[in-house]
Amino acid sequence: MGGSIVLFGPPGAGKGTQADAIVLATGKPQISTGDMLRAALAEGTELGLEAKKYMEAGELVPDDVIIGLIRERLKSQDAINGVLFDGFPRTIPQAEALAEIAEVSMVISIQVPDEAIVERIVGRRMDPETGEIYHIKFKPAPSEISSRLIQRKDDNEDAVRTRLSAYHSQTSPLAEWYLQRGILKSVNGNQAMGDVQEEISLLLV
Ligand code: ADP
Ligand code: ADP
Repeated sequence: MGGSIVLFGPPGAGKGTQADAIVLATGKPQISTGDMLRAALAEGTELGLEAKKYMEAGELVPDDVIIGLIRERLKSQDAINGVLFDGFPRTIPQAEALAEIAEVSMVISIQVPDEAIVERIVGRRMDPETGEIYHIKFKPAPSEISSRLIQRKDDNEDAVRTRLSAYHSQTSPLAEWYLQRGILKSVNGNQAMGDVQEEISLLLV
């Protein structure tokens, strides 16, 4: 499939979890704006410092910052046959900017009700060595690595409620925007991870 794919859904929908199998199936590299911002923050760059206060509060980072980041990333050689966007675009202006610089062939919307989101986010843990995403209940890490797992600073109940409301007011209108363009595909994200993966794989053939 030519063009880029967008993974769309609320925080905690399972975008990062499902990305690996899509990368494997399509050969397209994953571009996660959240991961890029966290890397900038860890490196202490100016951009990272600017993004920090928004991220910790659970608010969206301004569009011009995000669009600049994506423009630079898409210049890399590995982006030439399309990429897998994870967590981008998150606003209509971001989607409009993206439409100018890349062809989006499919938007995979992972649907999960709000009631399930808080438990997913608060229980999320990351392995800093491999980037693997775990969950204290739904995907426990092997005991030999459990001591090195980290919890994101914004994965607390307060910030997740702010993130959910940002999702509903600023991001969810994008579903309609992409539906009108005929490229929105929805999958049920409120089932076992393997079943979500199977639904997604049917969209990629
Ligand atoms: P996102 O990238 O959309 O924010 P993640 O992939 O990081 O979401 O998933 C959020 C949390 O929910 C992680 O702890 C992950 O292990 C867990 N998770 C992902 N998919 C499912 C699922 N289908 N059922 C239960 N928990 C899940
Ligand atoms: P989630 O687990 O909620 O899907 P991400 O890792 O995608 O989280 O994003 C973490 C934070 O980074 C967001 O709450 C937001 O502050 C910022 N962020 C990531 N992507 C974007 C974007 N496309 N537009 C604006 N802010 C973003």
